Amino acid sequence: MEKELYFKDLGLSESILTAIGKKGYEKPSPIQALCIPRLLEGTKDVIGQAQTGTGKTAAFSLPIIDKIECSKNVQAIVLAPTRELVIQVAEEINSLKGKKKLRVLPIYGGSNIVHQMKKLKEGIDIVVGTPGRVIDLLNRKNLVLSDIQYFILDEADEMLNVWFKEEIEEILEYSPVNKKVFLFSATMPPFIMGLVKKYLKDYELIAVKKENLTNDNITQQFYEVPRGHKFDVLCRILDISPDFYWIIFCRTKAETDEVASKLSQRSYLAEAIHWDIEQAMREKVLARFKTKAVKILVATDVAARWIDVNDLSHVVNFE
Ligand code: AMP
Repeated sequence: MEKELYFKDLGLSESILTAIGKKGYEKPSPIQALCIPRLLEGTKDVIGQAQTGTGKTAAFSLPIIDKIECSKNVQAIVLAPTRELVIQVAEEINSLKGKKKLRVLPIYGGSNIVHQMKKLKEGIDIVVGTPGRVIDLLNRKNLVLSDIQYFILDEADEMLNVWFKEEIEEILEYSPVNKKVFLFSATMPPFIMGLVKKYLKDYELIAVKKENLTNDNITQQFYEVPRGHKFDVLCRILDISPDFYWIIFCRTKAETDEVASKLSQRSYLAEAIHWDIEQAMREKVLARFKTKAVKILVATDVAARWIDVNDLSHVVNFE
């Protein structure tokens, strides 16, 4: 039988172990168990083939938090495709750094650039950003990457769906050659392998399948209903569910809007979320959902990656 691994077996320092304990993580997920010792060792670049939900953020965050010290210049940069993900990653790093005095700055388009410039001037250790804003700040010479030790590309395949390869390469070109690169991606299409060949040196590939971190207490049910009755059945289930806190996944943006609006008409606290909703609005909706001012989030599949909520009562696949 394989030996069960605990965070204390991975080589992390005591102060980080305390922070992990406070956060409530009991055991490392598979990607964490495999990546953390490798990244702490720091001898190779690493490609982690892992999806959202595998615990990949902590897999790269914990080693960099442990390795870097507060300094004059930026020590690590994490690039992520969307501002929601940037905010989530920055929050995860902040919640795992414990007592260590590291300064983390999320930077993304649409947010106050003057504030970000001021913060960078004061000194930042870890930057988490979307490529567009990162380039903007690099061009203004406010962001300097010449001393970074770690370059992390999170959701690299998604990033290349949203941003141009040239933008990511441009940022890589600003960084020193002797940094370590950690690239996380759910899939490894040819354009990712192109980046890997060009920018990674001696690297190790670590792949894990998606393992739901909290799946012990999930019950699955399905209802067979005539199409025309689907919405009524949905409402009936809502009515018999005390303390409901739901995500409903739909297939199209139009259906997402329709279900959310029909639910609102029946006085349920529901809102829709998908790519066509402006970023600022998406953030507001997510914030309202997190505080339970909105109890039902109706989302397209792609929106799943923005959602990081732990105590849902139901996840409904409407189609
Ligand atoms: P990620 O794949 O990084 O988006 O993480 C998915 C979710 O798993 C987040 O809500 C994390 O806070 C949570 N998580 C990460 N690592 C662990 C762990 N070792 N134990 C329990 N939850 C975790």
